[in-house]
Amino acid sequence: MAPLFVLDEALINGRWRSPNRVAFMLACLRELDVDLRARGNQLHVRIGNPRVAVPAFAAAAGAIDVFVSRDYSPYARRRDGDVKRALEQNSVAFHAHRGTLIHEPEEIATGAGEPYSVFSPFFRTWAKLATPRVTPAPDQIPGVSRIEAGELPDLATLGILRGSAEVIEPGEAAALRRLEIWANSGLPGYASDRDVLANERTSRLSQDLRWGSLSPSQIVSALPTSGVDREKFISELAWREFYFHVLWHHPTVLREPFLSQFATIRWDNDSVRFEAWKTGRTGFPVVDAAMRQLLATGYMHNRGRMIVASFLTKDLHIDWRLGEAHFMEHLVDGDPASNNGGWQWAASTGTDPQPYFRIFNPLLQSKRFDPEGVYIRRWVAELKDVPTAWIHEPATMAPLEQAAAGCVIGKDYPAPIVNHAIERDRAIADYAAAREATRSG
Ligand code: FAD
Repeated sequence: MAPLFVLDEALINGRWRSPNRVAFMLACLRELDVDLRARGNQLHVRIGNPRVAVPAFAAAAGAIDVFVSRDYSPYARRRDGDVKRALEQNSVAFHAHRGTLIHEPEEIATGAGEPYSVFSPFFRTWAKLATPRVTPAPDQIPGVSRIEAGELPDLATLGILRGSAEVIEPGEAAALRRLEIWANSGLPGYASDRDVLANERTSRLSQDLRWGSLSPSQIVSALPTSGVDREKFISELAWREFYFHVLWHHPTVLREPFLSQFATIRWDNDSVRFEAWKTGRTGFPVVDAAMRQLLATGYMHNRGRMIVASFLTKDLHIDWRLGEAHFMEHLVDGDPASNNGGWQWAASTGTDPQPYFRIFNPLLQSKRFDPEGVYIRRWVAELKDVPTAWIHEPATMAPLEQAAAGCVIGKDYPAPIVNHAIERDRAIADYAAAREATRSG
């Protein structure tokens, strides 16, 4: 057997280019190579177009079968189709197997055989299917000696500068450690506490799922066999599968709204406001904390993701696709399906069954999910001495209180860049107008 990884330049320098993700992926691959060597094999590496690299490698190895893990984005589907055709011309068989998901997008369908567009009924069907059995890795994987291994490049060779400083530890060993801690002691309290921003009471396994250091079936099989926390956690894994299902059946979501009635929304796309959002300088502490967590770590708490996405689209009237792209640039777990699903959900252009006029109030979200301001102070250093009474709205401090907290509004920390009540009304009007235009058009 000859394990191969092709670094596809079209992905590395493409639409979703991300130093954080490439750095994480390379570190995972380095560890994979070490693990394969311990089993009598090694990782083979090629840089270039898989349509050329895979058939050439198969020919050099004398392969008659090529096995890959199934991939679901429109780009991956075209690529894998082309690779399959090229291999078959050389009489090499191409086999795409499950691994990324517990249940394949085609395995879940409504009674009428249609794809789902709402999570709850999807989940009911999904949860009835049995989780596939997990097979342990073999101790020995005999290699093929006559092919050149190739070398994993470093970031600089790929023309990529280092990204965020505090990225979580990459590789399978670290992922397995996280899983063990999560399954043995982390899970209790997940259902009730997962939304609390400061708690860090979620699994932190998203990048391991994203990069295949863990499979979702492997995670499920490591969990305790019952309990509300397990059920809640499994439903979150199913959200991930739901968004793959949506992307598989509606590949256009990567460019267009899932709900076509919102295709004509009038977005402002104000570059000054967009910059304030990206750098965590909006004057809304909970938004700024989350945006700075993203820049510093390549990760953001799920509640933070929902708050900042709602804020960008409904308070700043900036197209969700710009937010989606910014997340993809920084998130180590950045994944086209989940990220697009999350963005379209928050922008009310996607699969959220709630209507568009349910708009997050950033102040109420802040008070509810970070009541003491612990998360805010962790990420927004200017606010660290602001008393809890004002932490959610520091601009309401009197000048003397600002001086005492070492945080002068407008100098040390910005005043809010928008008025939520006004922007909320504006968003509702814009969404209603877009829907009306579609109806009468
Ligand atoms: P846990 O709470 O421990 O959840 C366990 C696993 O379930 C996660 O690792 C993830 O694989 C899956 N999961 C949990 N919530 C969701 C969800 N809402 N949608 C899909 N899968 C979920 N997740 C990504 O993996 N990649 C992304 O690019 C991504 N972009 C997002 C963008 C927006 C705007 C929003 C609102 C959410 C996004 N999410 C994304 C989902 C979610 O925020 C992360 O999966 C979660 O924060 C990862 O932390 P965790 O592993 O500790 O999660």
